[in-house]
Amino acid sequence: MATDVFGEIDPPQRLLMGPGPVNAHPRVLRAMSADLLGQFDPEMTAYMNEVMALYRPIFGTRNAQTFLIDGTARAGIEAALVSLVAPGDTVLVVNFGRFGLLLGEILGRIGAKIETVEARWGEVVPLDVIEDALKRVRPKVVATIHGDTSTTMAQPLEGFGALCRQYGALSYVDATATIGGMEIAADRWEVDVVSGGLQKCLGGPSGSAPITVSEAAAAHIFARRHVERGIARDDIDDGDGPRILSNYFDLAMVMDYWSDKRLNHHTEATSMLYGARECARVALQEGLERRYARHRAAGAAVTAGARALGLEVFGDDRHRMTNVTGLVIPTGVDGEAVRKRMREDFEIEIGTAFGPLQGKVWRIGAMGYNAAKHKVLITLGALETVLRMEGFTCPPGAGVEAALAAWNAELAA
Ligand SMILES: *Cc1c(COP(=O)(O)O)cnc(C)c1O
Repeated sequence: MATDVFGEIDPPQRLLMGPGPVNAHPRVLRAMSADLLGQFDPEMTAYMNEVMALYRPIFGTRNAQTFLIDGTARAGIEAALVSLVAPGDTVLVVNFGRFGLLLGEILGRIGAKIETVEARWGEVVPLDVIEDALKRVRPKVVATIHGDTSTTMAQPLEGFGALCRQYGALSYVDATATIGGMEIAADRWEVDVVSGGLQKCLGGPSGSAPITVSEAAAAHIFARRHVERGIARDDIDDGDGPRILSNYFDLAMVMDYWSDKRLNHHTEATSMLYGARECARVALQEGLERRYARHRAAGAAVTAGARALGLEVFGDDRHRMTNVTGLVIPTGVDGEAVRKRMREDFEIEIGTAFGPLQGKVWRIGAMGYNAAKHKVLITLGALETVLRMEGFTCPPGAGVEAALAAWNAELAA
């Protein structure tokens, strides 16, 4: 019997206005279709070096160790934590949403002793609360999320890394949801490891996790270096520290692969590297300040538009991410029915929510290639129509008008 080969991939043209993934920039998709190269071809290793150079400004750092982890953003998180933390180490987790809980979950598997400072969903953790905990628990590592898409809140990080250093702790930040859309200032924040992903404000597909590692963190990780036997070399010495519990996510070996040593660890995901490289080029050509302003304008437009429709915006205004906005589902409106109509009638995806917010908020993202005025206006126009179809009364046209005014005001400011 002949095997069904199904159809050629031909997805509908959805506008992805949820918390990620979003539509990739066409230049990124084109870059990803380029021909492949051998792993140690000089053209390939030159591309790897270019990627390192391109991501330094995006992370706001001069860290030599700036590279890619092959895998989705979670791979970057896991690589950072498993390489920084050994079983029994005390780690302080700053938790204000689903991804803060994920840090705890990963650290639990590593066998860390976990201490937590928390905020209710929709709020962030004040720096003095983090300082009190640092004094009390004296952690080896402090881990936090920058923007937690589950709650749409952005943890303020000015002074965060310096505080951790003052108490002798290394710091880790998951910046997946903000990188390329809100400022990442690894050096100014004095944080040690920051990781991200492509599928949000960098406007690429998921599957590559840019990461940067400070000199102090790199020294700590290299002290745990145990090169696997099959690729061990005389010119690479092992350290005295406890072996890193993952082979694939062993940052000591991955950093040796990305260095002139070119340790033969994994095979770099070539097409993803092309994509990540183009994401960075697109962002830097636009200019990071302009790009952040564009995301601010998009967030301001969604917020103003939603309020003009009579919707409540979720969470603390002072700490809102600019690129994802939570809208409280009005009483009597079926949140899933709205999402279904948005998708089926308008080809627009908006996000649902998790945990305590499930069924209570929608999340609208305007990120990367989709943080565009017309895409925000089209989404709000569609939402207004759908809300009315679902029995919610709102002033006709008000959302789009308010959004347009907010967009223009933000960029004129
Ligand atoms: C979206 C998101 C991730 C996603 O991780 P993936 O492995 O790429 O699915 C991680 N962290 C945060 C804060 C996010 O918002």
